[in-house]
Amino acid sequence: MKRFFSLFLLLLLLLCSGCSAPTVGDTGTFNEFFAMDTIMRVTVHGDAGEPAASAAREEIERLEKLLSRTLPDSQVSQLNAHAGEEDAVALEGDLISLLTFARSLSADLDDALDITIAPVMDAWGFTTDHHQIPTQAQLDALLPLVDCQTLEIDPQAGTARLPNAGMAVDLGAVAKGFAAGRAESVIRAAGADSALLDLGRNITAIGVKPTGEPWRVAVQDPQDSNLYLGVLALTDQTCSTSGGYERYFEEDGVVYHHIIDPSTGYPAHSGLLSVTVVSPDALLADALSTALFVAGPERALDYWRREGGFELILCGEDGVVTATEGLEDAFAFQGEDGGYTYEIARR
Ligand code: AMP
Ligand code: MG
Repeated sequence: MKRFFSLFLLLLLLLCSGCSAPTVGDTGTFNEFFAMDTIMRVTVHGDAGEPAASAAREEIERLEKLLSRTLPDSQVSQLNAHAGEEDAVALEGDLISLLTFARSLSADLDDALDITIAPVMDAWGFTTDHHQIPTQAQLDALLPLVDCQTLEIDPQAGTARLPNAGMAVDLGAVAKGFAAGRAESVIRAAGADSALLDLGRNITAIGVKPTGEPWRVAVQDPQDSNLYLGVLALTDQTCSTSGGYERYFEEDGVVYHHIIDPSTGYPAHSGLLSVTVVSPDALLADALSTALFVAGPERALDYWRREGGFELILCGEDGVVTATEGLEDAFAFQGEDGGYTYEIARR
């Protein structure tokens, strides 16, 4: 419910900030649909709006059928169903490249991101929404199955193999960003150059608004869905946010959320309430927001200092919101109402 409320608020802010949802025949096309377990909104301006928005939706729905592990016929489900068997599974190029990307980013980030987290997600009941706290013995038995470096990928043959029975891939951390990147390409190929994609906390801004100004996107206060940490001005960039507040359950006053630290099997407690990544690369933004939420503020900033291609807004449990210097002009901090203080991190 909270999730839908947040999405509603985000839309409201977009409306208030001038990114109104046009109807076909007005200044563009607005397409809203449910996919990948979330509400998706595609707004495309200009003459190519209608075909571009339809093509983007078709592409997202095609990718959901490929990447979902809850659809029994998806290719990810095929890969998971044959875990531990001798023969590798033939997969489409899109899935091969996403698996390769996720495995390589995981190695760069000391396994903070691990797409073979599925058995642990299931043990917590996050897959079915029948939540429960697994015993330590259960987690001890499952954690050896979480190791995406053992995922065998043969790009030439177009196959992959999970080497041990019980292993399974969950692309929840990266699928929406991957879909956003592909939808962006489809929209541009259709001839549109002004669009906004909202794929559940992955917001992709294509070009600028029809008024010529950058798109404006709110970053939610992770502790109060009525408030914002601030507003980002985006042009040809995606902003992706991960936080424990998005999906969680509570037991005996303790909150258990859906982003798992692969080294413990428990929800990550790294000192962060949320991580927002801004990048021209939608897939990178989605993958890094999840990974750096697990990694924590120090490792996140170290990684940012080492690598190019993205900027960060970190919301710490200590009430400090830190934006990296590339966002100094693009991010308008508004977190005072939520009691936050603001800092800029420099290289
Ligand atoms: P996001 O909303 O992009 O931050 O992704 C969160 C989702 O990624 C969860 O709902 C799980 O499906 C999956 N997930 C949770 N923890 C991890 C992790 N450490 N590495 C990779 N995927 C994860
Ligand atoms: Mg993610």
